[in-house]
Amino acid sequence: MSDKTNLYGLTYQELEDLMVSLGYKKYSGRQIFQWMYQKKVFDFGQMTNLSKKLRAELEENYSIALPRVLQAKVSEDQTVKYLFELFDGSLIEAVKIPDDPRLTLCMSSQVGCPLGCKFCKTAQIGFKRNLEVGEILSQLALVQMMLKPEERITNLVFMGMGEPFLNYDNVKAAIETIMSVLAFGIGHSKITLSTAGHVPGIYRMTDDGLKVRLAVSLNSADPEVRRRLMPITKKYSLDELRKALIYHTSQAGRRVTFEYLLISGITDTIASAKKLVKFVDGIPCKINLINYNPSEGLPGEFKPSNENDLFKFRDYLYPRTPAVTVRASKGIDIKAACGQLAAKHQ
Ligand code: SF4
Repeated sequence: MSDKTNLYGLTYQELEDLMVSLGYKKYSGRQIFQWMYQKKVFDFGQMTNLSKKLRAELEENYSIALPRVLQAKVSEDQTVKYLFELFDGSLIEAVKIPDDPRLTLCMSSQVGCPLGCKFCKTAQIGFKRNLEVGEILSQLALVQMMLKPEERITNLVFMGMGEPFLNYDNVKAAIETIMSVLAFGIGHSKITLSTAGHVPGIYRMTDDGLKVRLAVSLNSADPEVRRRLMPITKKYSLDELRKALIYHTSQAGRRVTFEYLLISGITDTIASAKKLVKFVDGIPCKINLINYNPSEGLPGEFKPSNENDLFKFRDYLYPRTPAVTVRASKGIDIKAACGQLAAKHQ
């Protein structure tokens, strides 16, 4: 990368401040913001509404640089997994998931992840670093630039590599740019932050009034089992998580989504379902059941739930809980589950 300062990732406010500090009008910041994020023009020379003097100054000292798309793997079900190479050589992933009429992009917030969930390939990479704002936005911008003319990303989920609440400031800044009508223009109700149960993050997001949706990767409502599957439970207990979610739903006025992985004999028993019903009682929510997707290198004792157990589990939950869906695993043939592609390349 060159010595020039990369502007990609700067917020609206930061671009305005930069223009003022260089002696230009504030509105030039707004113009650059629109060129970069809305029009996807990365060449200052083509930013025709900026003065020639400003364009020349930008070309001399600044750049607009995005990571490189290293691979795009298309699955039989049209799920596409993208592998990006960042400027320091780190690899991250994003997954485009068609689910007519929606087209969802699952994005990463960190390089690797420090939380060590036992069913997750990203956990095996370990934690390298947080993503910069520009690296988060680039995933969306680069995928949008590769879409077919009739395609449009309608929904975003921060469910890829990393725990978004451990990189809260950058994720929040990226979301604000994503929501801006002068940039990506994706509304708050179409964006979901998924947490492994980072309790302070839930309070922070709620108190900040960050309006996006919240999902919790729960996977077990049994303290013992969850501690084993998701070590973050040792730091933030299920009781604390429950309290935070009651606070969030009452303040935000939106329900949360629980993601629940069905692992045969471990999380898919009727005893587990009973605990889950008790845990979600009083929390406005929807439960997404996802059958476990086995992968090389993950514990051999983890097996997907068989169809019979899966439906028994679902039928126990509903109507005892308000809404239950069984989510189809997408992109199995291209290893679309979190971290699988990057793990293979590291
Ligand atoms: S499941 Fe999510 S939070 Fe857990 S280790 Fe993987 S990336 Fe991190």
